[in-house]
Amino acid sequence: MRRIAGVFLAVASVLGAQPRKPIQDVRIDILSTMLTGNAGLGEWGFAAVVEADGRRILFDTGARPETVLRNAEELRIDLSGITDVILSHNHGDHTGGLLTLRRELGRRKQSAISKAYVGAGAFWQRSETSVLAAAKNAYESGGGTFTEVASAREIFPGAWLTGPVKRVHAEKNYGGTGKVRNAEGLWVEDNLPEDMSLVLETTKGLVVVAGCGHAGIVNILEQARREISKAPVHAAIGGWHLFAATDEHLDWTASKLKEFGVENFLGAHCTGIEAVYRIRQRAGLTRRTCATGAVGGGFTLKDGLRPGTLAK
Ligand SMILES: [Zn+2]
Ligand SMILES: [Zn+2]
Repeated sequence: MRRIAGVFLAVASVLGAQPRKPIQDVRIDILSTMLTGNAGLGEWGFAAVVEADGRRILFDTGARPETVLRNAEELRIDLSGITDVILSHNHGDHTGGLLTLRRELGRRKQSAISKAYVGAGAFWQRSETSVLAAAKNAYESGGGTFTEVASAREIFPGAWLTGPVKRVHAEKNYGGTGKVRNAEGLWVEDNLPEDMSLVLETTKGLVVVAGCGHAGIVNILEQARREISKAPVHAAIGGWHLFAATDEHLDWTASKLKEFGVENFLGAHCTGIEAVYRIRQRAGLTRRTCATGAVGGGFTLKDGLRPGTLAK
């Protein structure tokens, strides 16, 4: 019996079956969004540095080539130690800073911003110009690599990429009239099939970061809870593309957020100012737990939202 138990333990440890340890410390600093605080410039774009138990990654790179680099300098956030960058989707307001950050930070540390994660579909042929596709050759010839993510993937303990998100609900959180050539070679409506989010499994529940939320916040959070962890959503942070949503759609969204246990909501970038306040009201959140995100603001697992001077 002892021998069998020993074999079982050996197999379990090979399979990595030890209990999972959730992330204990999270800090998110926004470096590109429209609203700004005491330091940094605003723009139509999104980028944030995410730190989880000491591991740092960049999520999106802003719109203008220099914004994230300059805002980080002004906010005294050193990005040169960061190797991994997640690009939520191909749009220029999320990928515009990639080449500048790689070039400038790479001078300080060779590996800086050299490993980019994109969702499968990010490089599919499009009817409209893609800033990401245009940057691909220069990024790769400068030593950068792209990793395409086709399904949920853990990039370090407790930190997951959703990969492309199933469009279960017709949230239609994207605009434009562009077309994309899909895996079957067919030209279809460009609903940003590659759109993916970051999900952190923490001691307080899931912390989810989105760039533009084109897949729809409800689709994203449902998929995270279906495929990554059933835990309630402690915080939803980033761009959620609700600025053009009707009151009815916002009410439905808020009721779903309540259902997922969302305790904190920081709506930056394309979320929309009015959308943030309606969600606050309808999801039963407060001034401390639901606000508009600003450059220099962010979130910590310990203290919650940091909206910034103007939005608090
Ligand atoms: Zn977008
Ligand atoms: Zn965007």
